[in-house]
Amino acid sequence: MTIACLALSWSAQAGPAPDTLAPLASGVTTLRCGTLIDGSSAIPRRDVEIRVEDGRIVSVGAFMPDSAGTVIDRSQDTCLPGLIDAHAHVLIKTDDYQVDHLRRSSGYKALRGLNVVQEMLRSGWTTVRILGDADVAYAHLDVRTAIHEGLFIGPRLTGAGHYFSITGGGGDLNFLGPEHRVVADGLVVDGVDAVRKAVREEIKHGSDWIKVLASGAMMSAGNDPNRAHFSPDELSAIVDEASRLGVPVAAHAHSAAGIKASILAGARTIEHGTFMDDESIRLMKEKGVYLVPTLYVGDYYLNEQPGSEAQAKLNELTRRYRAQHIAAVGKAIKLGVNVTVGTDYVGFPVKQGVRELGLLVEAGMAPMQAIQAATRVNAELLGWQDHVGTIEAGKLADIIAVPGDPLQNLAVLERVSFVMLGGREISTQ
Ligand SMILES: [Zn+2]
Repeated sequence: MTIACLALSWSAQAGPAPDTLAPLASGVTTLRCGTLIDGSSAIPRRDVEIRVEDGRIVSVGAFMPDSAGTVIDRSQDTCLPGLIDAHAHVLIKTDDYQVDHLRRSSGYKALRGLNVVQEMLRSGWTTVRILGDADVAYAHLDVRTAIHEGLFIGPRLTGAGHYFSITGGGGDLNFLGPEHRVVADGLVVDGVDAVRKAVREEIKHGSDWIKVLASGAMMSAGNDPNRAHFSPDELSAIVDEASRLGVPVAAHAHSAAGIKASILAGARTIEHGTFMDDESIRLMKEKGVYLVPTLYVGDYYLNEQPGSEAQAKLNELTRRYRAQHIAAVGKAIKLGVNVTVGTDYVGFPVKQGVRELGLLVEAGMAPMQAIQAATRVNAELLGWQDHVGTIEAGKLADIIAVPGDPLQNLAVLERVSFVMLGGREISTQ
């Protein structure tokens, strides 16, 4: 692969359907905030008035004696940009997800996924990237379509239809006898020609990211997360095909070899990065790759559902490698890698997803940096930085408020008291 071709791969960004980034309200609203964290400034501002017209922010300034339009008073609260989750699986609701995948129809999963994304919105996540989900069809992309069409209220959704897996990989059903032929939760695909066709099919059916399991996985049976999956040729073919169609690639990679192969092939984001070494971190920095560590999901199952049979593997790996993973993420933060927030939602209580920010602080971020990772940096990851991620004139009015100071106590983010999506106030009940 030539250098020019690699450069093209790295610059590929999602091309959202126009209505993904649409305002949702008309008219004039003034939002008064006691404190404003705007997503880009290093320090918060006090007593700030945000003027919203037709769903977009038109000005951010001091309280005025005569505020325009409808006035919303959050002068006791802290306002922030709507949160962006860079990694969620909204169709998955149990720890035994590969078996659950076989139990449920695509239609049922769509309804359950709709319920989850609506709860995410009420909890402050105004944009969610779904990185493949456990469905034979494209239920979560149908949820997105229904939201676009105005049938339901929900967050701005983007993402991949499926996670690509090699035969025997993290998206395959490795606990079945060889004579049992059922469709796995992941998209099992092998070989350069087959992966090219799979990329085309995913995009044909509405994927605006391609998700590839470039190593084994923590949660599925019968594969080792510390092994690289897909050959360099397959990974290059995936990125080449996706880039040509204007779609970026997200690579799930725990093993250092899988991380490096994904970065060299031109992936835009690395998911997890559990076993990354110094060279992987250096490559991330050099190539401007985003790292989404998804630290919380392991802690959740370890602390809140110990002993679950299906999670024995995850629990064991988390126990063994948690400290090493957090230390490696700390190194990446120190080196200036774009480390961002992904909850890896797979069925835990939705409100707990923001605990990912606390774990990034444990790894070495300042609280403000963690908030910016969940807002401005994730907007950049998506290529949506002109529309969402900060509170400033010209952006969509995706704004949340919390009681108290998240810089002192990130836990207040679990008590989001106000959500505005594209200028429309959303009930948090
Ligand atoms: Zn995931």
